[in-house]
Amino acid sequence: MKVSDRTNGVEYAIRDIILHARKYESTGGQVIYLNIGDPVKYDFKTPDHIKLALIKAVQDNKNFYTESEGLPELRKAITEKELQKGLSVTEDDVLVTNGVSEGLDMIMASIVDPNSEVLMSGPYYPPYASYVKFYGGKPIEFKLNQDGRPDLEDLISKITPRTRAICIISPNNPTGEVFDRKSLQQLIDVAAEHNLYIITDEIYDKIVFDDQFTGIGKVAKDAPVILLNGFSKSYLMTGWRCGYVCFNSNSTELDELRKNVPKLARVRISTNLPVQMAAVEALRGPQSHIFELVEKLRKRRNYIVKRLNAIEGISCRMPLGAFYVFPKIHLNSCWRDDQHFVLDLLNKTGVLTVHGSGFGKAFGASHFRIVYLPKEDVLEEAMDRLELFMHKSCK
Ligand code: PLP
Repeated sequence: MKVSDRTNGVEYAIRDIILHARKYESTGGQVIYLNIGDPVKYDFKTPDHIKLALIKAVQDNKNFYTESEGLPELRKAITEKELQKGLSVTEDDVLVTNGVSEGLDMIMASIVDPNSEVLMSGPYYPPYASYVKFYGGKPIEFKLNQDGRPDLEDLISKITPRTRAICIISPNNPTGEVFDRKSLQQLIDVAAEHNLYIITDEIYDKIVFDDQFTGIGKVAKDAPVILLNGFSKSYLMTGWRCGYVCFNSNSTELDELRKNVPKLARVRISTNLPVQMAAVEALRGPQSHIFELVEKLRKRRNYIVKRLNAIEGISCRMPLGAFYVFPKIHLNSCWRDDQHFVLDLLNKTGVLTVHGSGFGKAFGASHFRIVYLPKEDVLEEAMDRLELFMHKSCK
């Protein structure tokens, strides 16, 4: 039976690669999973006060449909958070979604027409490209300079009459790069000059290691900024699926979108009410788990970067945020490409990573992504296996 071409083309390297891991396991091998950025699968657990709020909501019979735009109290709490980060936003500018993923889907569904182009820095988080393609558009990658700043010449050269938006993910998945204020200002200026939406994903806003995080709100003024954020990472609620979209309240250019995106929210009825009540507690309750999360991650980041850079044939930049490294592989003649490398590594050692080209071929090729969420002993085992693999494979 016929399947739509649109669906046939959907890819998500981070999860698609698991099929290979299952095959490896079926032959008796044990896999070290370093492919999915889910802290709750490792030794980071949803804080008790958030879990209790969820249980209480269920027991209090808060088990019905809620407002499509989101629980008013949660929209209020989100507004308080994002105002503090500098974005101008009212409760009416907030839409609660089933994770950032659903918010991203709704935004791309609302701005992409067939042949529209959407700019994103390369390498990119795959769903950004997938949703653009799903709605008939074309993802276009622009380059970052060595210092992590956007290459403005490259970016501007890629703007066409079909361009609709610039996407910014900071801190970034897969690179861990964090844009500074100057970079954000430059991107806003380019977008304003060319009449483009700015879609910003700040899901890792609390997971930064060195410098203070600057939110897009600090420089947004009246630019058409659409901010995506959620509870999966900092609040360790990945499996509960809760995120949100905020529209810059100063931007009148967003008025049509502000009217139209909620229609998509109404069609899907609402998000999970008990989870939304727990999300209110996440934002308003104790925040100390975030400090512990970042401190644990800092140690793991330092460890993995040191180990990777000590392996001949691999080089790795120090990420500034999130929980990913994106090392470069000097392929030589040992592997055809990064996917061949990642599968060979899996099949010979059981270490599962993700090939860089899954994050865009232009800037992701010859790299691979490692999630450094596991405890040090697991990371040590994975690095020992990788080191031996490199040593044996490529003399
Ligand atoms: N945005 C980025 C940049 C991510 O890295 C991820 C998950 O890895 C998501 C969104 C997905 O977020 P959610 O769990 O809220 O759908």
